[in-house]
Amino acid sequence: MPSLINNLVKNILHIVYHHTCASCGEKGDIICKACKDSFLFIDYNNICPLCGRHVGKRILCGECMLTKRYFSEGYFGFVYENRLKEAIHTFKFKGRPEVGRYLVSLIKHIVSPLADKIDLIVPMPITEKRLKERGFNQSYIISEEISKIINKPVIDAALIKSRETKDQYSLSREDRKKNIKGAFTLKRPDIIKDKNILLVDDLYTTGFTANEASYIINKAKPTSIIFFALARTL
Ligand SMILES: [Zn+2]
Ligand SMILES: [Zn+2]
Repeated sequence: MPSLINNLVKNILHIVYHHTCASCGEKGDIICKACKDSFLFIDYNNICPLCGRHVGKRILCGECMLTKRYFSEGYFGFVYENRLKEAIHTFKFKGRPEVGRYLVSLIKHIVSPLADKIDLIVPMPITEKRLKERGFNQSYIISEEISKIINKPVIDAALIKSRETKDQYSLSREDRKKNIKGAFTLKRPDIIKDKNILLVDDLYTTGFTANEASYIINKAKPTSIIFFALARTL
């Protein structure tokens, strides 16, 4: 019963918010022009090719030289700040998947080159509990939109999140690492084996989640893993 009420509230909120900007709340488009114009794209040529940190050219950053990464390349959409941050928050927590879809449509130029590099799209999983609360997995929505651009299938049966984790934001750097360790389980290694995988998430912060999920996917012996995040902190 509570979940029925939850869904009802979500639907009402959806109707009320449907014609408001996901960033500033102004009536009209999914994202108004002023907010859209304020979004910053991550510049492929000026970032670390693994973690996306801005380093002024395309070279490995200091941290990536010292840290083992289980993915071979990283692609990133927006700089996670100000109005874009608000849009992603609305997308994830206010039941508005169309916002996520719209955001991906703004970064076609970043996503398109992936067509030649990957075979399968794997969304970063969330637990069943979170899925029930939220109504959708934000990474799955992003993956679906990427799939439309590059014409590769989304596979969400291969990797699952088997343990709930605390919100990474509330934790120290060391605790974030511990928090995510062992949270993922490989369900269908057969689908992953010998394939070029695009692992998709909504956000990249410390990279612990990306690395842990990649570490688990690697156990299935894929040909390669490329990581993608809709947004990245600077
Ligand atoms: Zn706006
Ligand atoms: Zn790096």
